[in-house]
Amino acid sequence: MFVSHFFQKTTKNRIMKKICVLLLTILLLLGFALSHQNIVVRADSEIVDVPIIMYHSILKSRSGQYIISPDKLKEDLLWLKNHGYESVFVSDLIDFCEGKKDLPQKPVVITFDDGHYNNYYYAKPIFEELKFKATINIVGTYSEFSTTSGDFDNPNYSHLTWGEIKALQQNEFFEIGNHTYNMHNLKPRYGIGKKTEEDFETYKENLTKDVTKLENCFKDKCGFTTKIFAYPFGKYSEESYEILSGLGFKAFLTCNEGINHLKKGDESKLKTLYRYNRSGLISTEEFFKHVGLK
Ligand SMILES: [Zn+2]
Repeated sequence: MFVSHFFQKTTKNRIMKKICVLLLTILLLLGFALSHQNIVVRADSEIVDVPIIMYHSILKSRSGQYIISPDKLKEDLLWLKNHGYESVFVSDLIDFCEGKKDLPQKPVVITFDDGHYNNYYYAKPIFEELKFKATINIVGTYSEFSTTSGDFDNPNYSHLTWGEIKALQQNEFFEIGNHTYNMHNLKPRYGIGKKTEEDFETYKENLTKDVTKLENCFKDKCGFTTKIFAYPFGKYSEESYEILSGLGFKAFLTCNEGINHLKKGDESKLKTLYRYNRSGLISTEEFFKHVGLK
């Protein structure tokens, strides 16, 4: 009896000892990891990796390459939130690259192209609830048609009216970008691409006229102007950059996939910001795995 009790006691002691050593090791490793992380964060705060996600339409009835359901959109935002991502505007990237502002440790930018009314109808309440920010890029002719035709506020097909654009710009969770007035076409030119027969001066005049027309609509009908430009179909060139930056645009959204490695005080990367198109045909997990987010 005594012997077995003695053995039980020593075995207990040994287990207790092992647990103590294990706990101590975990604490030491944790301490090292945290101090190591702090050093990395301090050293790297001037350089930040920024993923930009590109959404288009939001519909309950169907999904596609450019259409996602409201439920899946919300699932995406919750995934980002649960993985420590904090949304910022494209204009925050401009401020960071101009050296005026810092970015959070894990920033993410969310964009919506083409100015669908369903962004207002479905996304606005979700973004307000989860406190996420988004940049919405408007096509002038679409919004002009919805405003003047009298056929507006249908999530299935209409676009944001000037009044809704104004309301979104005034909302703390949204900002607006320029996606051309009437160059969101495949013909006679591909997006803002230069026509082969056009000389540079004619091209400059045509592009300037179109983009300025939308800026004037923003100014006159909505009371703001924007420095954000989203290239229709991701089409751009050195010449288009020269013209658009001359008009005052500072951040340019492409459709090329990649993570943006931005450096505080360095504006060069704003010229071609990479984005990942969010197809509604894959799951939230699959999409973020593709982007490489953890
Ligand atoms: Zn577009």
